[in-house]
Amino acid sequence: MRFRGHAFVDWDDTIAENIRYFREAEEENVRRIAAATGWDPGEVRRRGRELDVTVARRMGLVKESFATAWIECYREFCARAGIRPEAAVEAAIRETCLIPYQVRQELLPGAAETLAWLNQTGFEVIIWTAGDEAVQRRKVRESGLEHLTHRVVVVPEKSPERLREALGHRDPARSFVMGNSAHSDIRPALALGLLALHIPAETWAYDQVEIDPTDPNYHRLERITDAPPVLSRRFEEAV
Ligand SMILES: [Mg+2]
Repeated sequence: MRFRGHAFVDWDDTIAENIRYFREAEEENVRRIAAATGWDPGEVRRRGRELDVTVARRMGLVKESFATAWIECYREFCARAGIRPEAAVEAAIRETCLIPYQVRQELLPGAAETLAWLNQTGFEVIIWTAGDEAVQRRKVRESGLEHLTHRVVVVPEKSPERLREALGHRDPARSFVMGNSAHSDIRPALALGLLALHIPAETWAYDQVEIDPTDPNYHRLERITDAPPVLSRRFEEAV
């Protein structure tokens, strides 16, 4: 089968809601820690988010890192308050931190239509996503969009090297990356000279990085449904 081109499509916060579930879990933990220790919720939130990034850099993008960070946060505020951490509170934090990995995600507006368009117009659709292999595959399976995808590639962390591996024999000039993260999606694409379609969404502090908006391969889109016109101009019809 000859494809018109190869689409490397990010999943979380490009196709499906993700960060929203983390924010909700964070807020639950902020309330819980503030109530248990008497500390100001704003201070708990600030420190918890800081630890979330620190711990993720230490442990990598594994699902244990989220709970580890919030339990560390709880223990810190207990120490500041001069009280002993309680096992029951830690168990509750752990449980709340699992929700974003287990929830059935809502699809983002226009995502299903755009994947359908890519299929109909002859693109190979490769979901290129970072995180826990089983979790990411379950998300795609439960989305109802699996029939619109040709492949799912899950990597522990996105980088130019990982993207090069995922590309394999595909021609970089006939491939593109579409995603919400400057760090994980756009930077690797531009590093390999691929077209990069950036659909910014709120992103985790871990993921923030400067990119060169003057790179001719860089396209910033307001919404995912702006992708088809850009792709139609760049890629000829299937041959
Ligand atoms: Mg993403």
